[in-house]
Amino acid sequence: MPTLEAALADITMLHVDAIVNAANTKLKGGGGVDGAIHRAAGKAELLAATAPLGGCATGDAKVTSGLRLPAKWIFHAVGPVWSVSRGGEAAMQNADRLLAGCYRRCMELAREHGCRSIAFPAISTGVYRFPPDRAARIAVKTVQDALPGSGMEQVIFCCFSSEAKRIYQDLLEGA
Ligand code: ADP
Repeated sequence: MPTLEAALADITMLHVDAIVNAANTKLKGGGGVDGAIHRAAGKAELLAATAPLGGCATGDAKVTSGLRLPAKWIFHAVGPVWSVSRGGEAAMQNADRLLAGCYRRCMELAREHGCRSIAFPAISTGVYRFPPDRAARIAVKTVQDALPGSGMEQVIFCCFSSEAKRIYQDLLEGA
């Protein structure tokens, strides 16, 4: 059985086959986890690696190598911006679908690249303001649904605060 765990860590330090970036559609770097990944991987080299990819749609992900990171691959996923003021319930469901798409696509890419371990940040819960508990439920469910036959051995939900880690731990323990 693969292990699913919540860890309080800087994702750039993790020794896994792939780490996931919370990128933006232009794939040209940004703040938050994206900025940390660019700094740690090598900013110029990572920008050179993403330049030919032609950006990335929301809900999708693109691959580069990990460059100077311990991880072999970076999956650059683009999560939705949370905006309750626009569109109400339909907009929320659309955001849920796009966020799930990020996790599903990363699990597909992991399989295509023979990854046995992967670490996800809490995509969209920073600058993109997605409610953290709602995002975590989507993350855990989508990853669990993608596990059978994936060859995955370890999935880390990499949290940047103890509050975020608690949310994931409760979900993973079925609380
Ligand atoms: P988004 O634009 O998708 O909301 P952010 O980078 O602003 O992306 O935030 C996504 C999540 O990543 C937030 O929960 C934030 O606390 C977390 N985060 C920021 N830096 C790191 C890091 N170095 N390692 C892991 N998680 C991080």
